[in-house]
Amino acid sequence: MNQVEVISFDAEGTLVTPGFSQAIWHETIPALYAGKNGIELASAKEIVAREYDKVGDQRLEWYDIEYWFRYFRLSSAESAIQRCQAKVSYYPEVMEVLSSLEGRYKLIVASGTPLELLEPQLEGIKDYFARIFSSVSLCKQLKTPKFYAYVCESIRVNPAQIVHVGDNWQFDFLNSSQVGINAFHLDRAGNSQQGSLANLTELESHLF
Ligand SMILES: [Mg+2]
Repeated sequence: MNQVEVISFDAEGTLVTPGFSQAIWHETIPALYAGKNGIELASAKEIVAREYDKVGDQRLEWYDIEYWFRYFRLSSAESAIQRCQAKVSYYPEVMEVLSSLEGRYKLIVASGTPLELLEPQLEGIKDYFARIFSSVSLCKQLKTPKFYAYVCESIRVNPAQIVHVGDNWQFDFLNSSQVGINAFHLDRAGNSQQGSLANLTELESHLF
């Protein structure tokens, strides 16, 4: 892999911890729903989670905060997002790894999170990245092989010269591999397939 030019990162679960996402989807939205419908927060959390599950992560709507605000008839998604901004945090090794890689490679983000949720999450590290791609916002699709092909074309780099790393086996590993990208699966819990990385520091040792 000595011709690698670009390192592509998934965002949530890879660079960004689940805190922000948890706060939006499982705290703020249920709290708004509880307020609107005059029910207890605990039952609102159950109802909302059940509705998410009915849609599931294979459908675009699952990722679309505007869809859910319309669906639950809630007011502004934007102010909810702002309220959760303080919950954004990065995994401990992220700054060090990005600083170490930025001079040697072009760094990009390839995420399935819509831009209105992605941008606030990348606020503290966005300067490291030459490009930020959201499959949902830019291509109206999940992180399919087609999306990865679009990313390669957009940056005019051959897939074989790109490394992508992310924590979802299907959307990060399988789908990017399919177009010829050098894919790495990140498994921070450390209980999956052989060959998965436990953190981003381990990625560096594979690049030389
Ligand atoms: Mg992820």
